[in-house]
Amino acid sequence: MRKLSVMLNWFADPRQYVDAVNSLGSTVGAYEASIAQCEEAQGWCAWCNRATVFYLSNGSVRSLREGMQCAHCKLTNRQRLMGFTIADTVGGVEARIALLEQTTRLYRSIKRRYPNTIGSEFLGRDKRRGRGHVWRSSTFRFRYTRHEDITQLSYASNSLDVIAHSDVLEHVYDYRAALRECCRVLIPGGALIFTVPFFHENASSLLRGKPNPDGSLAHFAPPEYHGDGIGGAGIYTFHSFGLDLFDEIRAAGFSEVVIGLCYVPTQGFASTCGVFRAIK
Ligand SMILES: [Zn+2]
Repeated sequence: MRKLSVMLNWFADPRQYVDAVNSLGSTVGAYEASIAQCEEAQGWCAWCNRATVFYLSNGSVRSLREGMQCAHCKLTNRQRLMGFTIADTVGGVEARIALLEQTTRLYRSIKRRYPNTIGSEFLGRDKRRGRGHVWRSSTFRFRYTRHEDITQLSYASNSLDVIAHSDVLEHVYDYRAALRECCRVLIPGGALIFTVPFFHENASSLLRGKPNPDGSLAHFAPPEYHGDGIGGAGIYTFHSFGLDLFDEIRAAGFSEVVIGLCYVPTQGFASTCGVFRAIK
């Protein structure tokens, strides 16, 4: 199979990542202003390996991170960043990958390239982990997906080469337990790959709220809800992560943590959002 690669710069020192992002600040701003004029840009999609058009908007979402959608594979900037990080990390197509999403184009695209990929969604605390469930929502008429809870995965310890999730952790109150659980299921040398909205200008993460015993939420910051990917009403955001996330990942048992940056607008990478990679 063709080796996939793009220009991914890895930083083990978060301050160097911050410096790199800051040095791109005016360049990113100028590019954003120019693409905002025409809404699209000609370029080359390295995931499709062909010339393409990148659209700034992805449905109703208009952003460099959630948009820059390739006209052919339909993957966004963030999704291709996840895809290339997985491709950059795994040894071969037989890799055992758990991706904590299953209704998305990213899942279908990864599954085609790596057939041993297992996708899942979080379907509710009452569902049995590791099992398929039928469900529907306002977005999906009928779906059958596996249910997994990131704080209590069904996978055996030391059983996976890669566990990957994208914009999940900020919605998990006990994200430290989630990181420990991701570490547990990986083989030694296996990789956790994930994105979160990352506030690199903040040294410390912000806890935005916590669950009360009665199931309601105690808010410490204005509530934020994001699309949950399965067509629900939106999912509460507990955390705005800052630079201390690096230490928390290590504290969960990982030996090495890096953040990757890919800024190549002609290849549809126009956001400085990072991708984390942690090795067990
Ligand atoms: Zn593409």
